[in-house]
Amino acid sequence: SLSDRLGGVFDKLRGRGALNEADVRAAMREVRIALLEADVALPVAKDFIAKVTQRAIGTEVTKSVTPGQQVVKIVNDELVAMLGGEAEGLELGVAPPAVIMMVGLQGSGKTTTTAKIARRLKTKDGKKVLMASLDVNRPAAQEQLRVLGEQVEVATLPIIEGQQPTEIARRALQAAKLQGFDVLMLDTAGRLHVDEALMAEMQAVAAAANPAEALLVVDALTGQDAVNVATNFSERMALTGVVLTRMDGDARGGAALSMRAVTGKPIKFVGTGEKVDALDAFDPSRVAGRILGMGDVVSLVEKASESVDADAAEAMAKKFAKGQFDMNDLRQQLAQMQKMGGMGAMMSMMPGLGKMKAQAEKAGADDKLLKRMEAIILSMTPKERGRPQLLNAKRKIRIANGAGTTVQEVNRLLKMHKEMSGAMKKIKKMGGLKGFAKMLG
Ligand code: GDP
Ligand code: MG
Repeated sequence: SLSDRLGGVFDKLRGRGALNEADVRAAMREVRIALLEADVALPVAKDFIAKVTQRAIGTEVTKSVTPGQQVVKIVNDELVAMLGGEAEGLELGVAPPAVIMMVGLQGSGKTTTTAKIARRLKTKDGKKVLMASLDVNRPAAQEQLRVLGEQVEVATLPIIEGQQPTEIARRALQAAKLQGFDVLMLDTAGRLHVDEALMAEMQAVAAAANPAEALLVVDALTGQDAVNVATNFSERMALTGVVLTRMDGDARGGAALSMRAVTGKPIKFVGTGEKVDALDAFDPSRVAGRILGMGDVVSLVEKASESVDADAAEAMAKKFAKGQFDMNDLRQQLAQMQKMGGMGAMMSMMPGLGKMKAQAEKAGADDKLLKRMEAIILSMTPKERGRPQLLNAKRKIRIANGAGTTVQEVNRLLKMHKEMSGAMKKIKKMGGLKGFAKMLG
């Protein structure tokens, strides 16, 4: 996985403030392989990498994450943005009936998806939907849609043998108008490959039906091939969106990025199975996570950047550098760790930290301990917090009583603080939190 491969890069990248060009390029080589493995088309992957490389170089690394993790976060964010940012629904704000036309290759899932979307519009949005099959190539195609219509309890246009696709489209439109349907779904014929006859037919139907939505249905498993299909269709038709089917299978979802890049249109739905309810609204961040396979790292960095106040982190870094690190700083670090879900959560999210987590657990470095340490620091006077060397036996007893703990525990905290101060340069090199965790273990 990308996680494994970036492991090596993580090590090399550790302990720098901003991402430099060589670091970023090294990481991007791994990201590129991950994209290709996820079936992103080569030219799309290339463009994407070029864009992200420019964005990443010079980026400050959020404190408490490694530069490698920061790179993953940047890649992820750019991926989400390119996949479409927010999820987009259907645009049906036209005078009814709003026509939705489904196009794509044979077997891509058009007919199934037609029924899925119709069902969704009916049950979720309370729309009155009519479906019509314009597939006159395959003998049983119109019957297939009729059966699905019965299954999802959505009306289908009565079948009349011998009509051509545009004729059926006009008849469907007429019926939808007369019978007060909100939405008309046109399921079209496919071919095994894109050909001239198919494109001409699609254009004629589009001209006759003036669809509000023209959705290209693409099988996510076709990966690299899907790009040719998307290129051909988008050159010849005014597509409004894409539906990616068979995302329940092994597809890593790279086709989503390719589709978006080639058509410039949003992916609106994702098919996740053969059943009529197996349709999800497209969720860019979920698909990005699937493409990169690094969801854990991304959420780790998100948590870190949410909770780290940039200025405080900056000030802390300066103190580290100067060798000043008092109890207030230690408390801030402890609070930081709690915000991020405690040590256990932090460590289990970081690749390669399993061993360290076990050590920390052995040392009792759980969330309760973090809270007790914080309580001890809070029982100190401001003066004591600034100058821990003031803490004599008498003061320690007072603090232990105030925090509801023992003098041993106070000593333990002081020892930790001393070790941290002493190992400051080392910590700085290793990246604050990781170093801190190591001290505890
Ligand atoms: P069409 O030729 O484009 O109309 O394709 P169909 O709708 O007839 O679908 C072809 C096959 O793919 C059928 O067996 C469907 O059940 C199946 N199919 C469609 N969408 C999905 C999906 O999202 N996941 C899975 N696993 N199968 C699907
Ligand atoms: Mg079909």
